[in-house]
Amino acid sequence: MPGEFTLIERYFARPTPSAVLGPGDDCALVQPTPGQQLAITTDMLVAGVHFLPDTDPKNLGWKALAVNISDLAAMGATPRWVTLAGALPTVDEAWLASFAEGFFACAKEYGVDVIGGDTTKGPLNVCITAIGEVAPTQALRRDGAQAGDQIWVSGRPGLAALGLAHLQGRVTLPPLWQRLCVSALEKPRPRVRLGLALKGLATAAIDVSDGLLADLGHIAERSNCAAAVRLVQLPHLKDLAGSGETYDADLRRIALDCQLTGGDDYELCFTARGSDSLTLGRIAAELELPLWLIGEMVAGPAGKVTVFDPDGTPVEFARKGYDHFGQADT
Ligand code: ADP
Ligand code: MG
Repeated sequence: MPGEFTLIERYFARPTPSAVLGPGDDCALVQPTPGQQLAITTDMLVAGVHFLPDTDPKNLGWKALAVNISDLAAMGATPRWVTLAGALPTVDEAWLASFAEGFFACAKEYGVDVIGGDTTKGPLNVCITAIGEVAPTQALRRDGAQAGDQIWVSGRPGLAALGLAHLQGRVTLPPLWQRLCVSALEKPRPRVRLGLALKGLATAAIDVSDGLLADLGHIAERSNCAAAVRLVQLPHLKDLAGSGETYDADLRRIALDCQLTGGDDYELCFTARGSDSLTLGRIAAELELPLWLIGEMVAGPAGKVTVFDPDGTPVEFARKGYDHFGQADT
C-alpha cells in the first residue's frame, strides 16, 4: 500500500506557478502582490455531517474547493492559493484519484494553486484554506449596508435545495429541472467575477450557503439594520420549466421554500445604493448572470428579515440557517 508521501506526490503535488515554493517543504512560500491585502478563509467538510460518505468523490473534490472560493468571491477577493488537509479512514486510490480530479478541475477553473496541505488517517473529512487578494478598503464586508440600500441576489437561489429534495425523494422535479438543480447542488459555481465587479458598488455582501433569508439576516445583523424582502420580486423558478412541464401548487410551494430558506447555492446576496441599479444591470448583462432586486434594507431591529407578499402582508418563513451546536437560527 502506498505511503503518505507517495500519495501526496501521486495525487496532490502539482506545479504551483503562482507560489515561490509549493508542496514538499515545511511551509509553502507565496509572494503577495504589493499593496494587496490577503483574504483568508477555511471550511471543513465532515463525512456524515456535510456530505454523505458515499458521495461521488469527484463532485466532493469540486465542491469542497468551490465553497471556499465562494467565500473569497463574497469578499470581492481574487482567489490565489489553497491548502488541502484531509483525513482518510483507508487508502482507496480510486477514491483519491477521483477526488483529486474534481478538486484540481475546480482549482484550474478559478486559477488557484494548491500550495500544501496535510494528509492523515482518520474519519473521512476535508479541510481547505483558501487565500485571495483584495485591495485595501475594497473588500465586500457584511457590515456596510444602510437603511434604504437595495437588496440583490444573483442567479437562481433555491436550485441546490430543490436538487437535494429531489435526490432525497421529497419532490419529483420535471426532467429539465432535475439536471439544473442536481448540478447546482453538486457543482456550485462560485461567483468570483461578480464579486470582483461589485467592488466599490456593493455596500455589503455574503455568499448564500445557509439560505437566502438566513444569510441576508447576517448582513442585516452586522449592518445593524433590518431587511424587507418582496415575494413578488423574487425570480420565478417557473420560467425554468419547459413548456408542457408541470408546475403545480405543491411544486410552487416547495420551490419558494427552497428559494428563501434552502442552502448550498453559493450565489451572492448583496446590498447597493439605488443610484447604482443601472450599473448593476450592465454588470448582469456583461457576466450573463441575472441579478435580482429583491427588497431593501430598512430601519429596524438588527438582523430582522421580513418577507412581504404582493399585498404587503408579512409572510412567515422558518429561517433554518444551520448551527451545528444549537437550534436553527430564528
Ligand atoms: P510536515 O510534517 O512538515 O507537516 P507533511 O509531511 O505533513 O509535512 O507534508 C509534506 C509536504 O506535503 C508539505 O509541504 C505539505 O504541505 C504537503 N502536503 C501534505 N498533504 C498534502 C495534500 N493533501 N495536498 C497538498 N499538499 C500536501
Ligand atoms: Mg503535516
